[in-house]
Amino acid sequence: MCILTKVLIIGGGVSGLRLGSLLAKEDISFKILESRERVGGRVLTHNQDNNYFDLGPTWFWPDTEKTITNLITELNIPTIEQYNEGFSLLELSKHQTPKYVESSELNNKSRRIVGGISALVNVLKDSISTSNIELNKKVTSVIKNKNGTITVNTYDELKNNRINYNADILVLTLPPRLLLENISFKPSLPENIQIDLLSKPTWMGAQAKIVVTFDKAFWRDVNLSGNVVSWAGPLREIYDASTERDESALFGFFSLPPSIRNQYDKEAIHNKVIDQLVRLFGPKAKYYNNIFYKDWSQDKHTVTEGDKLNIESFPSYGQPPKYAENVIFSGTEYDEQHGGHLEGALSSSEKAYYKIKKLMSYK
Ligand SMILES: Cc1cc2nc3c(=O)[nH]c(=O)nc-3n(C[C@H](O)[C@H](O)[C@H](O)COP(=O)(O)OP(=O)(O)OC[C@H]3O[C@@H](n4cnc5c(N)ncnc54)[C@H](O)[C@@H]3O)c2cc1C
Repeated sequence: MCILTKVLIIGGGVSGLRLGSLLAKEDISFKILESRERVGGRVLTHNQDNNYFDLGPTWFWPDTEKTITNLITELNIPTIEQYNEGFSLLELSKHQTPKYVESSELNNKSRRIVGGISALVNVLKDSISTSNIELNKKVTSVIKNKNGTITVNTYDELKNNRINYNADILVLTLPPRLLLENISFKPSLPENIQIDLLSKPTWMGAQAKIVVTFDKAFWRDVNLSGNVVSWAGPLREIYDASTERDESALFGFFSLPPSIRNQYDKEAIHNKVIDQLVRLFGPKAKYYNNIFYKDWSQDKHTVTEGDKLNIESFPSYGQPPKYAENVIFSGTEYDEQHGGHLEGALSSSEKAYYKIKKLMSYK
């Protein structure tokens, strides 16, 4: 079976969905092929009762990130400021009392989305007809045909079947290393493109995120923001993740690398984190309600083996050399200015949209 469409978008993360939402306003047929059972990609919000806890991205920065800020305003999505009052803790070792630092000195102003970042994903998804989004379609190969069109082969793991799609324009939004590892190209990707893709690690691919919820943000009562920078671990950074609704929470990023994290089961990780929170915030931290944990280094729809190594310096993100006029790279790692962030995912898809419009105006 081969399904025909004008534009094929590979990946239904923020970038693929934003591009889909723009094409949906035009008379341009398109399909989004997504390998997971859900859209959103690296955006993952745990919703419980009235509460929402982000296990993927949490923040955007209105002062420097205009694309996401304008989009959120245009879509009327409510936001809240990241809690940043009082003092942050600087933990130099397990055996030293943490230092107090004014929180405002450490953190620049970020905002969160009410309902979590998945609230943005849901609005984008709802602006696209469900018939344009195909889940469980892992793209395995891309063929450039003699007539210039592109054929894409997909594999559906659940149904164990393969479907082909054909389009005039192909947009690849999956992380560069994953693309290189999982999709074969005919003709093959030239060596300079392969090297370029390999040099762009998946942003946050080695990270894991943990959220611990409480009845009350007890740290605020003693003028602590909940923010911590720790050299002792297992969490390297901690922030307040309370919602404006019922529950209070802290979330953290790990200093433990994937190779060490993988030696422990979930319970052992949870215990280590609670021990650190008790060390920093006192015995009240023992009485948590829930723990939510997501290790992105284990997520085969996001990372390759090479991404499991921590990124030591900020990678140089941006566009790879051209493969074909009608094959476009979108997604956060392909954005030169804001690569890594949601802002990069969104602005790269807006650029892809204008490229598509230009290509179509030649026809
Ligand atoms: C823990 C964590 C914290 C973060 N914090 C922040 C933050 O606070 N602020 C911020 O701005 N950014 C943050 N980020 C980064 C942000 O999540 C990303 O920039 C953004 O989500 C990337 O969107 P994308 O669409 O480019 O890629 P992705 O979300 O990775 O989307 C790619 C899609 O392609 C799909 N796919 C993969 N392989 C295939 C295949 N073969 N065939 C079909 N589909 C495929 C994937 O399933 C996925 O849905 C964070 C990320 C993580 C993991």
